[in-house]
Amino acid sequence: MSGTHAKVCAVTDSRKLNKLTGNPEFSCARCGATAHDKGSVCDPVPLEPDH
Ligand SMILES: [Zn+2]
Repeated sequence: MSGTHAKVCAVTDSRKLNKLTGNPEFSCARCGATAHDKGSVCDPVPLEPDH
């Protein structure tokens, strides 16, 4: 197993981070990171549509 599914919370590569956080649909309840894929944050909470 090669844990390639990085969590946004732990990502330090800005290019990767940019890709993961584009068009975010989930935020992390623990650290506030946002991501498009709920698997990318450690404690995903769906973002409320603002409009
Ligand atoms: Zn987190």
